[in-house]
Amino acid sequence: MTRRRRCGEFEGIARYFAPLARAYPFAFGLRDDAALLRLRAGEDAVVTSDAMVAGVHFFPDDAPDLVAAKLLRTNLSDLAAKGARPIGYQLVTAWSAQTGEDWMAAFARGLAGEQRRYAVALMGGDTVATPGPASFAITAIGRVRRGAMIRRSGARAGQDIYVSGHIGDAHLGLLLRRGDFRLERDKVSARYLLRRHQLPEPRLVLGRALVGLASAAVDVSDGLLADLGHICEASGVGARVELMALPISRQALRAMALAPATRLALASGGDDYEICFTAPRAVRERIVRLSARLGLPLTRIGAVIRGTGVEAIGADGSAIRVDQTGYRHF
Ligand SMILES: [Mg+2]
Repeated sequence: MTRRRRCGEFEGIARYFAPLARAYPFAFGLRDDAALLRLRAGEDAVVTSDAMVAGVHFFPDDAPDLVAAKLLRTNLSDLAAKGARPIGYQLVTAWSAQTGEDWMAAFARGLAGEQRRYAVALMGGDTVATPGPASFAITAIGRVRRGAMIRRSGARAGQDIYVSGHIGDAHLGLLLRRGDFRLERDKVSARYLLRRHQLPEPRLVLGRALVGLASAAVDVSDGLLADLGHICEASGVGARVELMALPISRQALRAMALAPATRLALASGGDDYEICFTAPRAVRERIVRLSARLGLPLTRIGAVIRGTGVEAIGADGSAIRVDQTGYRHF
């Protein structure tokens, strides 16, 4: 991490961030110009980046440790979808007038907790000050057996489409956070949905288990239907999704009675950080067993078809065509 001596606050970088690099010996305590990435024979490095800007990707009054945790987790989620095992990450921070030393300390504490949870370490990065809103970017680095990274481009017509966990919790959590509706009588569900929005769980164990099983995979960050659309585009196929087959949590079902949110909205709202993947029909049994072994729902929600784009089938059998510009009923 390049340290720039601009103000006293940046002296704090060494205090708050250098300890995060201790667990990765080839980061040299952040005292060199670069870190070293040493892979084992027969492995590929998988690299992915995600950024967050105050007021755009998080609320300026969000807890700093949660902001840090979500930033790291969204990056780990991308590694998960590729079947990779995380090694560490680079962090670039642009601190604003609103993110003083207390904020910075809490942000670093958040990262420390996540590092223990996911066995990763800080490998380097850069720090600057900005007159604009604070922004943070992480580049996560993982490893995978050579050639085994799960691409977006392997889906073939006739294969099944699955999604892990539950879809729509994070969207409802965001609506709650924005005050678009209330769940006053059910605080337990409200807390659960908010948590799912603020602190997604990267499906790392699942991702690794999908190597050799899934033909294509993506993590759900833009919304299930949009991200499935990315698989379709890269694979040159279409997809048909049954909205009634979507795995909706009981907390989300309760909230939907009050929230301005349909199943189509849950499938379009982003931030679930579940894994959407395709797989040949021949491995259906293996996926059922994998779901039981992980204690994680893996729900078959549709099929890969010839053509282009994503088609969502409603409860009444009507088809809704989904593309980048929105929905078209036909
Ligand atoms: Mg992604």
